[in-house]
Formats: sequence, structure tokens, C-alpha cells
Amino acid sequence: MWQGKKKALTFSFDDGVRQDVRLIAILNKYGLKGTFNVNSALLGKNALGYYGMTVRHDKVDRRQVAGIYEGHEIAAHTLTHPFLTKLTDEEIVNEVEEDRKALSALCGKEVVGMAYPGGGTNYDERVAKVVAEKTGVRYARTIVSTLSLSPQRDSLFCYHPTCHVLDKEIFSLVDEFLSYEGETEKLLYIWGHSYEFDGGAVNPNGMDWEIFEDLCRKLSGRADVFYGTNGEILL
Ligand SMILES: [Zn+2]
Repeated sequence: MWQGKKKALTFSFDDGVRQDVRLIAILNKYGLKGTFNVNSALLGKNALGYYGMTVRHDKVDRRQVAGIYEGHEIAAHTLTHPFLTKLTDEEIVNEVEEDRKALSALCGKEVVGMAYPGGGTNYDERVAKVVAEKTGVRYARTIVSTLSLSPQRDSLFCYHPTCHVLDKEIFSLVDEFLSYEGETEKLLYIWGHSYEFDGGAVNPNGMDWEIFEDLCRKLSGRADVFYGTNGEILL
């Protein structure tokens, strides 16, 4: 696992928006890897503002998906971004599995990852069980920050990331991760939305494109860190 290294770093970004192009250029510059969770039925749609943030939220174009995300992992985020907890089992399977299949066709390889869409309670035990048993998804990320570098050992279908890009703890977690020299495995798993780097109403830690690039530079080029997509880290 992790090519024999004790530490692993991965990123997970949701919604498949145009700002992902700028984000991927930064990740590529520093040799970092991420997973991008895309709503296939919303591709090509344009919108301003999301979750109360006044930022551009334009979705990437369907024909550009394979090219934009090359070298990273594309994962499911449901067709239309509903609250899965409010849907029937059958509707959940349709939202997840049809998204997974559409994205697999678009990127030319089988998509097996997923991030639950929506803020707040966006999954529960029933949803996770349906996804695990009735779809081709092999892991699913939640939006619950653990603020811990210890890899989760239980269900891959309720996988909690370490932190969100706007969590104020992100800076101390990066420092803790980089300075760790012990023998236990440590995982730094950061999630967010690339449009959050544009600024907006909700930004408790002052994160922006420049600060994020500084973090990437700091995290890059370490011989003791495995840099992988969510799938490469978890499966
Ligand atoms: Zn989302």
C-alpha cells in the first residue's frame, strides 16, 4: 500500500466546475493528485452563486471532461446533485449508477469512486448500504471533517476526509503531516470546491488561490509521501 510509504496525500474536489482547470494546473505543477466528483447530467450548465456564495459556478463542458481531468481520477457525484437521504432506494441507484456509467463512458475507464452531494446530512446508513450493495461504486466520501491524520479503518462507503479547504485547522494539519516521522500510517485527505478559492461569502480561514498554491508547494516533492488519487489511496 502507498508504495511502502507511511504517509499519503490526496485531494477531492466536487461539482465539476471551470475553476477545476486552474486547480489542476496547480496540482500538476507540484506533482499532486486528486479526485474530481462530477454531476454528469449538469455538465455544460452555467450558474452564478451556489450555497449562498456569489462566485461563478459554471460546469465544465461534456466534451472536455476526459481532457481536463487527465492524470487525476473522475468520480461520481450523482446525476443532478439531490439530497440522497430524501430519495427512494431505486432513485438513489438511478442517480448514482447512471452518473457513474455516463462518466465512465466520457473518460474511457471505469469510474468506481463517489462523493455524496449536498451539504448537511447528505448520506445516512440506508443510502450508504444502497450505494455499497446496488451500484458499482467502491468507495464514497462524506463531507465530515475528522481533523485527524489517522486513516479510517471501517466502511469505505462513509469515508470521512481529514478536512475541508476552508477549515481553519488545515494549516496545522499540513504542518503535523509534514513533520510526522513515526511508523504508523498517516493520511491527509483534503476536500473542497475549486470555486471556493475565488472567495465569497463563506471563507473562515482566508483561503484563496495563492494560499492554496503555497500549501501545495509545501506539500510537494517529499520522498516519504505517496501522492495519489482517492482511489489509489483507499482501494
Ligand atoms: Zn457537490
